[in-house]
Amino acid sequence: MRRLVIALVSPHGDAQEGYFPDTLLELCTTEARRAGHDAALVRVYYDRAEPQAAPERLSAWLAQKRPDLVVVERLFDPAPVVDYVQSRSGRRAVLISFGDAEPIPGVDLALGLVAGTTRSGRTRSTPAVGDLCAAFRALLHALATDGDVLAVPGVSRGDQHGPPLVPAPLPDPFEPALDAETLSTRTPPPVTRHMVFGNPGCPFALDTAENPHYRGLALAAEPGVARLGCAFCHAGGDYRARADEDVVADLVRQARYFVERTGVRELVIADQHPVRYLELLVRAAAQAGLGGVRWLFPARADALPREAASLVAALCAAEDAGQVLELYLTGFEAFCDEELTRYNKGVTKHELLEAVRCMRSLSVAHPRAFAYATSKGHSLVLWNPWTSVENLLESLNTVRAHGLCEIFDDIGHNRLRLYPELPIMHAARRDGALVAQWESGDGGTAAGKGYAKEQPWRFLDARTRVAWDLSRALRQRLGPETELVQLTAAAELAQHNACDPSLVGAVLRALDELDARLRHLAGPERPRSTRDRCHETRAAPVLFGGPCNNGCSHCPNRQTFRDDAGAFDRVATARATGMPIVLAGREPTLFPALDRIALSARGDDERALGLVTNARRLSHAPFAALLSRCGVQLTSVKVFGPDAATADAIARDTGGFDQTRSGVEQAILAGMNVELRVRLDARSVERLQDFAALAVSWGVARLRIEPALDALGLARLGAATEAVAELEAACRVLDLGLVAAPLSAGAARFDRLPVRPR
Ligand code: SF4
Repeated sequence: MRRLVIALVSPHGDAQEGYFPDTLLELCTTEARRAGHDAALVRVYYDRAEPQAAPERLSAWLAQKRPDLVVVERLFDPAPVVDYVQSRSGRRAVLISFGDAEPIPGVDLALGLVAGTTRSGRTRSTPAVGDLCAAFRALLHALATDGDVLAVPGVSRGDQHGPPLVPAPLPDPFEPALDAETLSTRTPPPVTRHMVFGNPGCPFALDTAENPHYRGLALAAEPGVARLGCAFCHAGGDYRARADEDVVADLVRQARYFVERTGVRELVIADQHPVRYLELLVRAAAQAGLGGVRWLFPARADALPREAASLVAALCAAEDAGQVLELYLTGFEAFCDEELTRYNKGVTKHELLEAVRCMRSLSVAHPRAFAYATSKGHSLVLWNPWTSVENLLESLNTVRAHGLCEIFDDIGHNRLRLYPELPIMHAARRDGALVAQWESGDGGTAAGKGYAKEQPWRFLDARTRVAWDLSRALRQRLGPETELVQLTAAAELAQHNACDPSLVGAVLRALDELDARLRHLAGPERPRSTRDRCHETRAAPVLFGGPCNNGCSHCPNRQTFRDDAGAFDRVATARATGMPIVLAGREPTLFPALDRIALSARGDDERALGLVTNARRLSHAPFAALLSRCGVQLTSVKVFGPDAATADAIARDTGGFDQTRSGVEQAILAGMNVELRVRLDARSVERLQDFAALAVSWGVARLRIEPALDALGLARLGAATEAVAELEAACRVLDLGLVAAPLSAGAARFDRLPVRPR
């Protein structure tokens, strides 16, 4: 038997630690070494800022290692591997996969793509890590002895393939290699979690063949199609359950390995149905001396209410054992029933929201043992070939209405990835959405996210393509802070603009002009009032998530849920910064103990304290006076229009404007310094300069502009740039101060406070 030199390559779309099952290649590295081969594992982090750096480094690394065999998972950039293999005969490459990949030209072998079907024959089997490791061992033997690689279970070469994978347990002893090298232009992310393996597959087995979106597709006749479960996933309908005691013993064995050798105590459970045994797992881990571990587990949305009792029992055990159970991944995909049907998700929007409600109440009941919004691994796939702009807006508006930015990161970036064995790819082919190569300016998201190369597709609704292009351009320009606002603005403009390729360019030009105008008002040249001695300083916000007595449709403070039971903790966090403090968010004046909040925010050091409010409750003079006594020196008052009709229409509450005016009056009488906070909105932008006269009539010397792209609309960017210039001119004439936040801040950044000199 020949001793092979083997290179195992784990590519990552960016320099962030993900939730990929990297333990698979770590185990394969050990299997290769156990078989007597010379094996090295490398993590390659790609960098969007330097797209060529990673492939060049990988090519250099391969040239230096000179492997006979390159093993790669999630291959989204084949070139360095293919070039290396083709540079000398006798070199081989194998793509190892759980199924979410397709054969790559130049990579001659694949392991796991052809997994066979379940005993029922109704769907594709799901490869388990043990199966892949055993097959990999057999493949190495065949290669090292010039045996027949196509006799190895799970191996395929082009359209030829060997017998299906054979079920096998995890390697024993369980010793994943922990000496991976890294190639990265930036400091590689530290490894803070490891994946441990429970039962493979997923029990969710809804049949796509019975879903109207898949009519006319002979899925039953297609061998190897993942027909059961979610239509974009390979794992459905094939849950290989073992006795709970056995799977728990296995998980504890794996956890002990990682905790003892790496000190890492965050463990990601790869099992789609773990809730029923979590209590047993927590107790077994405690007995094994694995205190302080944090288990990250996935669960379907409909499993939470159904298995609530098991989860609560596990949480009680975790509290006793000092462990944490974090629900890091629930597949939400979309908040639109039409899309959920297309995904064959088997849940409704209402059920998804019910699951969120469950998560929040469990977190209140078990704050030390339960988490659901820390890792933000929850899945949202807002874009697929059939997505209409209306579908998109329904999901976005639901995210906003229920504060779901609390649980999602990067909400607009994830889009459907298509692979051969997926029913949804067959439907895309039926409807003409598949394309030989990506349309110009499009490229999918697999590479950026570090997934395997995907099948190119196009949007069937041209407006959605416009929304996609606009939202990507805005995200690149403005960053992640206001992503939901950007997406909403892009979708609302695309709704009426199907095919105007020049639109994105025109919007970006207008955006840059407005942003330049706003940045000018954040600088030293901005108008200042001779009556205003305050200076702008950085501040630490304390954000409230409770009710509001206005009902603005584009409210930026609703998009992230915050439990106000934690308000005092948030004050402590803000005070720890040493900076002045701003009470902001929804409507702080509706928080029952705002006076006590203000007192604790002011503290013994008389910290400067501001309040962002619609001031309606301040119209009650004793309350205004109370807050002033408790330390509120600056009140930044949100005014939605220069007159009652406009303001009340935007805030959707008649009488609000008059209450705000009276609140400003009482705040001034109570000795507070008051400014008006003006949001750029399509319904008031034409009359923006009228806010200057309003400020004078209310006895206020400063205005602050909040740029809300969704309230303004991308079609009004030009009008807003002119209006801001007119307002600036009016402020100079009327001796008023004017300051603005940049577009990237939107209307929900409260990190500035005008402070009077002591
Ligand atoms: S997406 Fe999740 S719930 Fe759906 S089949 Fe896959 S593993 Fe199961």
